[in-house]
Amino acid sequence: MAKLSPMMHQYFELKENHKDHILFFRLGDFYEMFYDDALLASKELELTLTGRDCGQEERAPMCGVPYHSAEAYIARLIKKGYKVAICEQMEDPALAKGLVQRDVIRVITPGTIVETSMLDEGTNNFIASIFCDIRGFGVCFTDISTGEIKATQYQGRDHQQKLISELGRFMPSEIIFNQSFLDYKVVTSFIKEKLGCSTNLADDDETVIAMAQDSICRHFQVGELSQLGLDDKPYCTYAVGMLLHYLENTQKTGLERLLAIDYYNDKQYMNLDMTARRNLELTETMRSGEKRGSLLWVLDRTKTAMGKRLLRSYLEQPLVNPTVINKRLNAVEELFRCSMQRGELIEMLAGIFDLERLMTKVVFGNCSPRDLKSLEFTASKLPPLKEAVSGFQSAYLTQIHNEIDLLEDIHSRIHSAVKDEPPINTKEGGVIEKGYNEELDGLRDIVYNTKEYLAKIEADEREKIGISKLKIGYNRVFGYYIEVSRSNSELVPAHYIRKQTLANCERYITEELKELEEKILGANEKIIRLEQQLFDELRTFVASQLHRVQATASAIARLDVFAAFAEVSSLRGYVRPDITVSDELIIRDGRHPVVEALLTGAPFVSNDCYLDCKENQINIITGPNMAGKSTYMRQVALIVLMAQIGCFVPASSAKIGIVDGIYTRVGASDDLASGQSTFMVEMNEVAQILKSATAKSLLILDEIGRGTSTFDGMSIARAVIEFIADKKKVGAKTLFATHYHELTELEEELSSVKNYNIAVKKRGDDITFLRRIVRGGADDSYGIEVSKLAGIPDAIIERAHEILTDLENGNPVAARIREGKPKLEEADDGQISLLPLAESPVVERLRQMDVNTLTPIEALNTLYELKKLL
Ligand code: ADP
Repeated sequence: MAKLSPMMHQYFELKENHKDHILFFRLGDFYEMFYDDALLASKELELTLTGRDCGQEERAPMCGVPYHSAEAYIARLIKKGYKVAICEQMEDPALAKGLVQRDVIRVITPGTIVETSMLDEGTNNFIASIFCDIRGFGVCFTDISTGEIKATQYQGRDHQQKLISELGRFMPSEIIFNQSFLDYKVVTSFIKEKLGCSTNLADDDETVIAMAQDSICRHFQVGELSQLGLDDKPYCTYAVGMLLHYLENTQKTGLERLLAIDYYNDKQYMNLDMTARRNLELTETMRSGEKRGSLLWVLDRTKTAMGKRLLRSYLEQPLVNPTVINKRLNAVEELFRCSMQRGELIEMLAGIFDLERLMTKVVFGNCSPRDLKSLEFTASKLPPLKEAVSGFQSAYLTQIHNEIDLLEDIHSRIHSAVKDEPPINTKEGGVIEKGYNEELDGLRDIVYNTKEYLAKIEADEREKIGISKLKIGYNRVFGYYIEVSRSNSELVPAHYIRKQTLANCERYITEELKELEEKILGANEKIIRLEQQLFDELRTFVASQLHRVQATASAIARLDVFAAFAEVSSLRGYVRPDITVSDELIIRDGRHPVVEALLTGAPFVSNDCYLDCKENQINIITGPNMAGKSTYMRQVALIVLMAQIGCFVPASSAKIGIVDGIYTRVGASDDLASGQSTFMVEMNEVAQILKSATAKSLLILDEIGRGTSTFDGMSIARAVIEFIADKKKVGAKTLFATHYHELTELEEELSSVKNYNIAVKKRGDDITFLRRIVRGGADDSYGIEVSKLAGIPDAIIERAHEILTDLENGNPVAARIREGKPKLEEADDGQISLLPLAESPVVERLRQMDVNTLTPIEALNTLYELKKLL
């Protein structure tokens, strides 16, 4: 160490505090990495590894990236799970005496990104902070790029499930937690398997508790926690405290971006766990994970990034308070009715930039001149926008009108200070507008007019001294000089200082010329420094107006979402739902918003729904595969959800008794990767639903019990229905699709059960789906007919009918195939060859197996084994 160069000493001092981070060390126009960081980064980023003399015998491994393209490299490292510490030069190297001062100004982690190029504009990027013990937890979700903090706490038996639900709602990209959280095994495995995000253990619990209150009060500049509504919420306080502590350690600037804490409790929002969100395909499809095909895709007619993010969070947090829902619906209805004004508004919103993330850059000090211009441009759109909202009557739109600040001062300051189409950064100057600062104008004047100034001095001197051939020149050694021919040298006045004698001329300087020279030569540097200073002052001014810009941004986001709801409702023929606190759910001519939007050709067939907590609590829905059972059930859930976020719904009328949660168990979710069998996953989800649902909930259960043998499955399905029907246990409104026709007998036995089926028309072997839901159980599964539709060869369809007849008549089924021979092929005239000539290992394994002694799980495992043998 002793032999290290001073700069490498500095490097190691800084690296000491950032052992877990890749240190980007600023050296002039580059960020350099050294030693292990260099080895790692050169591999991960495919950079050339070089070396730097650092005073030791061996050169230090080194690699680097230019500072102006660093963002893209940092983004790649963050994506790969690394954390990057940014070390900057803290003084101008040109002015530094000795070693340039350097310091780490930020650590960039997945949850602390503010660079817009690394973020998706329509999605929040949350960092979560969890403080918990065995009784409960507090959690806060913070998006540093938009300044939002949402916090809640919960105590109760099912706290782990609640926490999972919150994490699933916000999908953080990074999590900080306290020691006790390590005992939340269910949640930690959820994070590992489902979120896969970066995690950090915070300081020990005592430190967290001791510092939380003070650091919160200091940050939000309040005397008491009660001013933030956190006085009786210790878990929440510790979670927020932990977050601030983490951010203070990783971010040297910009924390003032976090303006307020939005405390919410789980009673404000509908219960919607991750399974329900996924099954209902709210923001992405289950199969491809794409936005296209999701509810968000249909509803997203927003024009601003702020609106896009808000819409997503609305979808993830449907409301349960009828007053708040109706307040939104009133606004949407007014915009729905005023189609002209709506069109104008939408057009104006299209010109609004992402004020929230622009302000983050401003506050963090990494905004470019162009960012400020975007802010100015957006501010210039505010007066007509505010004017356009002024004519509305509904409470929400009036409130939005009041909350839009015209930001005229910000607009005019940026307008007068920053040139149109400025460069990307202030490094080369050329940013500040003429007329904004006198000193700057003077300096620029000198640079631009050097020639004229010199010509003027030349002319003046000629005249004063009377030498017509006197001229001004420049060389590197002496700078500017006055040249006079030898023959005229007697005329030279005394204040001329001789600098150089050449063969036939003399060169002089004067005080005046020296002064001008200093001005000219220093002007360029001064201009850049002054421009940077002026830009920084402007940036600081704009940053100080954060509250106002933020309020305007949030008003615009809501306006954008309401206008989008009104627009999509108008385009797709949605109606305003009637929101009630009763138990009734009455939908007339309901449609599935997404299937309807994706259908080409045949029109979507609408269907009614009637559910309550009495005779119509449970609807058992039968009907063949592909008839439309899942579509129907999801459509009911989506209509309820859309109503509770304040949107119109695809129906001719809808009366929605508010539900406190939507729970789904749909299809066979493919969770084999997590080591659980499909049946286990299914039963786990059912167990969870039965634990959480209340009489106010809506349950969508699709083919419960399918993952096991018929009798097991049917028994489980029936027991589940009986349990839900019991008002003392669950009592939730339920749509239950099943293949077990036997379950339709329940209508006779339980007063709350009604049978429905999705009608099909049968002619011979062919069936047509009518897509219409009607009372009563289906008389058949039409499994064979559906298989035919799906393209199963005729030979098999024929044979299946034979087997079915045998089974129905109680006859033993006689095989039509002798061992090892391709009988089907013979029988069917060589049409198809289904069986191999030699016996396959699968058949052999099947022969050895005693089906009667297998448990369902063993059967399932055997199936996997058999599949592997194929
Ligand atoms: P099931 O759950 O009964 O097997 P699905 O709900 O998956 O059937 O429906 C199968 C397909 O039928 C859907 O993908 C959709 O394209 C179409 N479909 C379903 N319901 C309707 C409807 N009401 N109107 C038009 N097409 C529908």
